[in-house]
Amino acid sequence: MSWRPYDPCPCDCGVIGWKLQRALSGETLAHVVGCNCIRHRNKRNRKTGKRGEYNRHKRLGGQGPTPNDEQPNTYPLWVTTQDKKGNQVPVSFTSFVTSAWYEHAMGQAKKKLAIGSEAHAALYLEPQGGGAWLLVDIAPKKKLKAIGPLGHEVGNR
Ligand SMILES: [Zn+2]
Ligand SMILES: [Zn+2]
Repeated sequence: MSWRPYDPCPCDCGVIGWKLQRALSGETLAHVVGCNCIRHRNKRNRKTGKRGEYNRHKRLGGQGPTPNDEQPNTYPLWVTTQDKKGNQVPVSFTSFVTSAWYEHAMGQAKKKLAIGSEAHAALYLEPQGGGAWLLVDIAPKKKLKAIGPLGHEVGNR
């Protein structure tokens, strides 16, 4: 089968391409630039991950080579705050920080803290659509209670 520019990708991912890229290792079929198959999507996600690690390191004032997301590394940080307490905090935030996703992600950050370290665990977030946030857990001990839709506590976590 001979592929020509603006034909659909030979891998049947449905993407129309203007150019073929080099075949992935272990494959003979070349996919188009911008291909949407699983392997190409994963490959792009890894690249995006690397760029995020680089951004995080630069934005937090890191020196030297970029530590990857598995390596423990701490940054000094100066911040100024605006305080919000109790019902000034949107419920969407509370449900976010009581979610399983948050628990897991923050748990991963906490695992990277050395025993006895005075650093705080934080999530570096670069969501789709732009922007970057550092969410630092500075509570000495977790005291947050999940609030249900009617404002009832749904348990002590
Ligand atoms: Zn494809
Ligand atoms: Zn592909």
